[in-house]
Order: sequence, then C-alpha cells, then structure tokens
Amino acid sequence: MNFYRTSNRFAELSAAVQDFVKNDLEPIGLRVEAQAHIPEEIVAKMRRLGLFGLAIPEKYGGLGLSTLEEILIYIELTKTNACFRSRIGTSNGIGSMGILFDGTEKQREKYLPRIASGQWTAAFALTEPNAGSDAAHISTAAVLDGNAWLINGTKQFITNADCAHVITTIVVTDEQKGARGGISALIIEKDMPGLTIGPADIKMGLKGSHTHELVFKDCRVPSDNVIGGMQMVGQGFKTAMRVLDKGRLTMGAAALGASEDLLDVCVKHVRGRMNSGQTAADLQSAHFDLADMATQLYAARQMLLYTAWLRDQGQNVSHEASMVKLFCTEMASRIADQAMEICESAGYKTLARIERHLRDVRLYRIFEGTSEIQRIIVSRNLLK
Ligand SMILES: Cc1cc2nc3c(=O)[nH]c(=O)nc-3n(C[C@H](O)[C@H](O)[C@H](O)COP(=O)(O)OP(=O)(O)OC[C@H]3O[C@@H](n4cnc5c(N)ncnc54)[C@H](O)[C@@H]3O)c2cc1C
Repeated sequence: MNFYRTSNRFAELSAAVQDFVKNDLEPIGLRVEAQAHIPEEIVAKMRRLGLFGLAIPEKYGGLGLSTLEEILIYIELTKTNACFRSRIGTSNGIGSMGILFDGTEKQREKYLPRIASGQWTAAFALTEPNAGSDAAHISTAAVLDGNAWLINGTKQFITNADCAHVITTIVVTDEQKGARGGISALIIEKDMPGLTIGPADIKMGLKGSHTHELVFKDCRVPSDNVIGGMQMVGQGFKTAMRVLDKGRLTMGAAALGASEDLLDVCVKHVRGRMNSGQTAADLQSAHFDLADMATQLYAARQMLLYTAWLRDQGQNVSHEASMVKLFCTEMASRIADQAMEICESAGYKTLARIERHLRDVRLYRIFEGTSEIQRIIVSRNLLK
C-alpha cells in the first residue's frame, strides 16, 4: 500500500530515474570514480529528465515535486555513485532554495527557470577557513559602495563551484550584529569581477563531485542582489538556516539510498556463499548483521518519509530534520562498516562498491551540519 500519496506524473518520473540509474549511471560508476569526472552527455540527460528542477515550482520551469517525491528520487540516485546526486543536489537544494524561499519575484523569475532547466548550476557558499560549524562567525564582508556591494573574503569546500553559474553566498554586512541582523545572503554570478575559483580539492570520496575555494577580492555585486532585496539586508542567516533544514532531509535520503544498496550487495554476497555450500550456521554472524541492517533501514526510511510528508503538510520540521540527518547518516556509516565485515576482501578492493560507499557516506556526517551540530540543535529544542 502506498501510504504516502504521490502523483501519476511522479510514478513516470520515478520509473525513468530507475532506468537512468540502471542503464546510464551504473555502467559508468567506476569510470567516473577513477576519472573524478561526470561525462557531459550524462549531465545533458539529467537536464532532459528535469533533474535540475525537481524542487523548483512548475511556475518557474521546474517539476514542482513535493518534498516526499524529491526525497524518493534522491534515494534512487544514491544507490549508485553518490556524485551523480551531488551534481544536481546543489541546484535543487542549497544553491537555489534561498532564492525560492526568500527571493523577490524578480529574482525568482530571473534565476529559477535557468537553474531548473539545468542551463545554470547553483551553488551555496557559507563555509570559511575559520567558520564551518560555527557559521555565525563567518568573516567574508560585504560593504556598500554606491550601488554595489564590495565583497572581500574566502569561502572553502564549495560544492559544484566549478560548474556553478550562480552562487548563493552568505556574507557579513554588519559585524556588530553578527547572526542577529548582520548577515546577508547575496546572489553572486560566477563572472562578477573580483571572484576567483580555486582548483578542485582532492577528497576522500564523492570524487566526481568537486569542491573549491572561492576568493573574493573587491568583488562587485549589484546592491539589489541581496536575496529578498534591500529590506532583507541582515536576514541572511535565517535564510541560510531554512535552506539547511531542508538540506538535512536530502542528506538523510542520500545516506538511506547508499545503505539500501549496501544491504542489497550483502544479501547477494551471502546468498552466493550459501549457494557454494556454506551453511546458515557457518554464516550466522553475517545473517545477524543482515537482520540488523534491515531493521535500521526500516526505521530510517519511516522517519525520513514521515518527516518529508510532515513538511509537505506545511509543518516546520527543523527539529525532526536534524534527527533524521543524525540517525540516517550515522546509520549509513555503521551499515557500510557492517557490509565491509560481511564481504571482507571483496568489499575492501579499491573502487569496489562497498569501499566507495564507505568513503562517500562518511561525508554525510560532516556537511550541512555535523552530527554534533545536529545533537546540539535537537537537545536545545528539548531543553528550551
Ligand atoms: C565534500 C564537502 C562538500 C562541502 N560542500 C559545501 C558547500 O557546498 N557549501 C558550504 O558552505 N560548505 C560546504 N562544505 C563544508 C561543510 O559544511 C563543513 O565542513 C562543515 O560544516 C563542518 O565544518 P568544519 O569542517 O569547519 O569543521 P568544524 O566546524 O571545525 O568541526 C570540527 C569538529 O568539531 C565538532 N564541533 C564543532 N563545533 C562544535 C560544538 N559547538 N560542539 C561540539 N562539537 C563541535 C564538529 O562536529 C566536528 O566534529 C563541504 C564540506 C565537504 C567535506
């Protein structure tokens, strides 16, 4: 029974995405990992499927999926190499959602259709060398100079900065006020003078998805590029937090997709062992691991889908989204470790599926708020 209703249109998209994963992404997963590059024809197919506009309303050229539907697509996409989801993820999420949530109508009309079509990629720049979890203490500053903002500072680890045309950038506009009215969200286009994008970071995982440093040196950005216009100057921290709240559900979905794939790999491995003569008693530890993995996955799927559904009912799910991110991403690391234990040498081989998932899922406990930050959010809510 489909407890959570999705539309007929979604059923078609979901089937098309499953075909895309099986026929286009799976066969090149290893090559993409080895070469750290997603071929352009795959990005073109993502555009044709509408994947860059999953969450953007139809009015602005997107597919206008509900949160629940979007999450179900991400679960499918992360059963294969995680970099494919990441390629579309910033455009559907942290890169564009600030413009959708708080942008002026003029800003939405200018940017969202280009992002939804995949013609433009959107990215999100908050993290700095001295401000990761402690996002309220960023120092990249924007000062008004006539009818432009003059930006100076450095951002780091910015996903998709190499292919981004537009970057939602969080800056300080009033140092004294800080997060309480002194931080703003700006829309910065990649060719605005004074912005330099550094080389790709060499990372442990998600090799086909790149992160970069951004250096702003007297970068000039039109004054009306504040998300929401001049009356929203100082409100950017709230915009960033709303964007991250939704992003945390996406991270839950990515962790769940990888974990479901890991369980599938392990079930096949254990069946193979049984077919070649090992008994249930020989494999008891693996059987117990499989049962534990499936049980955690069942719980994770329920909490993720229920929270997405709650959000679609108009509820503020900030608290629940943190619990989802914490539970699903910690679970994914446990499951990747158990999968390695079940498959041992076969899993440990470089670029083997388990090895890749093990590296990739570790990231989900870091970005969009580490596990400790989620614990702080949840416990603060409980105690206030
Ligand atoms: C692959 C990748 C992609 C990324 N993409 C983006 C992006 O697109 N845009 C962007 O803006 N950023 C991005 N980031 C940055 C990411 O969001 C930060 O790395 C993350 O917020 C953690 O910050 P940090 O690395 O500075 O760690 P820190 O904040 O220095 O944390 C270090 C450790 O201390 C713990 N800690 C910190 N504060 C507390 C506290 N108060 N109480 C208890 N423990 C605490 C943390 O949990 C962590 O374990 C990306 C990072 C990676 C690795």
